[in-house]
Amino acid sequence: MSTTTDNLSARALEKHQWLRVERGSIVLHQSPLLARYSDLLEHAFTTRLGGSSASPMSNFNLGRHIDDELIRQDAMKNRQSLCEALNADHERLVVPGQVHSPTIVTCADVPEKGALQNVDAVATNTRTLPVLLHFADCVPVILFDPSTMAIAVIHAGWRGTASMIVKNGVKELTDKFGAKPGNIKAAIGPAISSCCYPTSVEAAAQLAQTVTDASSLIITEPGEQPRPDLKAINAMQLLESGVGEVDVTDLCTACLPDLFYSHRQSGGKTGRQGALAMLKSI
Ligand SMILES: [Zn+2]
Repeated sequence: MSTTTDNLSARALEKHQWLRVERGSIVLHQSPLLARYSDLLEHAFTTRLGGSSASPMSNFNLGRHIDDELIRQDAMKNRQSLCEALNADHERLVVPGQVHSPTIVTCADVPEKGALQNVDAVATNTRTLPVLLHFADCVPVILFDPSTMAIAVIHAGWRGTASMIVKNGVKELTDKFGAKPGNIKAAIGPAISSCCYPTSVEAAAQLAQTVTDASSLIITEPGEQPRPDLKAINAMQLLESGVGEVDVTDLCTACLPDLFYSHRQSGGKTGRQGALAMLKSI
């Protein structure tokens, strides 16, 4: 392993304590890196705290993934109160379908209904256009380029990470908006961490292929399943794309079931927290 790769791995593995922010009853986390640009960018990683969703969705479910009209209406109400808390226009909220694809789409305005059904990341340089994606262990990523004023919000689960969706995010910002990777700031939010994420050898091998050297990013112990650090692997993919700064939270969704929805910890039936980003008006 070269010294450069070594340095990148060490940076990818770094975790930071994030800011806990309360807006009324809604509890959010913010990346200290992105919070430096709070005059230009609104961003939030939500928790279970803030609404009155019934169990097992309690209390602030934003997902409409379950075929139940009451749960869906409740999620819409929560999305609305999240938008109100962040001074975002709920009518303009952009929410892609999320199907574990590597697909990113740029939106100049509110897309037509159904247009983002098979999409797992959204980019925009339109101010006051809020973008919201949902998570319950998968890795939420927000990219922000203050130079070209462009953002992307990305859903990187195991499959998205294996297909390097965050690299597609960087490419979208460079191709569509002329962003330079070195100027891009990335925040990697609450997700299942290596402490709680044993996988198959095959899954770990596929993840390992996405970076130059994954040896320190996947914990392997004799006789045990490998435990990838999905947040660090996404961070490494971003750093290897030339992204200037990456800020990774230390929060694990499966370790903190009172605070986060966790697909694995709950056995599958649970709600969704959100990652929202929006460029502010001038
Ligand atoms: Zn954990």
